[in-house]
Amino acid sequence: INPVHVIGGGLAGSEAAWQLARAGIRVVVHEMRPFRGTDAHLTESLAELVCSNSFRSDDRDHSAVGLLHEEMRRAGSLILRAADAHKVPAGAALAVDRHGFSAAVQAALEAEPLVEIRREEVAGAPPGDWDSVIVATGPLTSPALTQAILDLSGESNLAFFDAIAPIVHRESIDFETAWFQSRYDKAGPGGDGADYINCPLDREQYYAFVDALLAGEKTDFKEWERDTPYFDGCLPIEVMASRGRDTLAYGPMKPVGLTDPRTGRRPFAVVQLRQDNALGTLFNIVGFQTKLKHGEQTRIFRMIPGLQGAEFARLGGLHRNTFINSPRLLDATLRLRARPALRFAGQITGCEGYVESAAVGLMAGRFAAAERIGQPPSLPPATTAMGALLSHITGGAAAETFQPMNVNFGLFPEVPTPAGARRPLRGKDKKLALTRRALADLDAWLSPQRAVAE
Ligand code: FAD
Repeated sequence: INPVHVIGGGLAGSEAAWQLARAGIRVVVHEMRPFRGTDAHLTESLAELVCSNSFRSDDRDHSAVGLLHEEMRRAGSLILRAADAHKVPAGAALAVDRHGFSAAVQAALEAEPLVEIRREEVAGAPPGDWDSVIVATGPLTSPALTQAILDLSGESNLAFFDAIAPIVHRESIDFETAWFQSRYDKAGPGGDGADYINCPLDREQYYAFVDALLAGEKTDFKEWERDTPYFDGCLPIEVMASRGRDTLAYGPMKPVGLTDPRTGRRPFAVVQLRQDNALGTLFNIVGFQTKLKHGEQTRIFRMIPGLQGAEFARLGGLHRNTFINSPRLLDATLRLRARPALRFAGQITGCEGYVESAAVGLMAGRFAAAERIGQPPSLPPATTAMGALLSHITGGAAAETFQPMNVNFGLFPEVPTPAGARRPLRGKDKKLALTRRALADLDAWLSPQRAVAE
């Protein structure tokens, strides 16, 4: 049988290839790095995490992304297996040592006899004799392939901006001022409720910092970038600050649940840093994605008490994000309507985030595997996190206003009001009901597939 070709060895492509191989299907992964780089990748590893090292909340009972983690674990996800094996302390979040994580993904695929990894760019429309292809080239798809996709789909380009946050060497942080504490001392599994580094700002320091952000020199937009909107979930810190001088104090710099041990009080504002590697030597500044010029970043971020001597392992930056209009272009199993031999997966489908990208890769891999063995692809129920995400991108979202989307409970069908209850479930009770239903439905969806694989 012909192999399935997976273009892009990122989060989605690696997961898709793994799912195909587990189903006994031959796969060729085409990854252009190291011969051709992107604006964000720094290594040649498969499944490189280009910015934060966090897979967000791991709470499977009350968080949509935590539920997605659990669903992926149950579906035999390589990305989740590698993440669990390389996790670092991060409170209730699942954060990983980025190098250990991607090395584990790469090693697993290299060890898989059904997977061949070719280091090459697919620089145009995939050849006609590739009869099953998964395009998982991500937000930084190379220009030649982007053009080919536009030609195939008949669309004009769709793009927006994302930004990345700086990373600081822990040893350069002043712990006379900064302290370790998780918000509300909330401890993750095996943790002590003190996973984050906190830097306090008083009122004057906060407003001086906001003024500096607003006045700081930003990287110029190129002509073609000017009308491209930002993604609201990942706004540069200076753009947030420009929306109001108090915006940051209610956003990434909110002080709630934190007590400065020197004063015994809650500070006016706080900058939090989260562990970025297993050794605990690097910490990223939470929510501080930025488009400030590099020199300005160093100057302005050193105004933060505790970071006055900060040494940066990486500074922030802004990048373009390419995605297709999936509700219009894709069918229910992620195939391009105009050329069904091509399936799409990952961020290019208009999902947003590492976990979501990998989840769409998992589904695309399973659909392509089913097709190869002559079975109709089986869709995950819309009541599961995977199914909710899939229905959103392949039809639930309005094509006219389609924007990339993180998984969230708003994408799930309502849970019925329990018999005898006077009003619909709300808050934590509702989340628990949604997640319980999701996992039960997921298990039912997975069991016949397990039976086929066995
Ligand atoms: P990728 O992981 O980017 O994988 C695509 C792969 O395809 C890459 O390895 C690339 O080299 C390769 N490729 C591209 N074109 C070709 C070609 N023509 N031929 C062969 N190979 C090709 N999400 C989060 O959850 N948290 C974050 O902090 C976060 N920060 C981000 C910061 C930046 C700078 C960017 C760009 C995205 C960020 N995202 C973040 C969003 C998103 O989750 C990630 O981009 C994620 O890696 C997407 O997974 P993917 O598999 O779709 O793409």
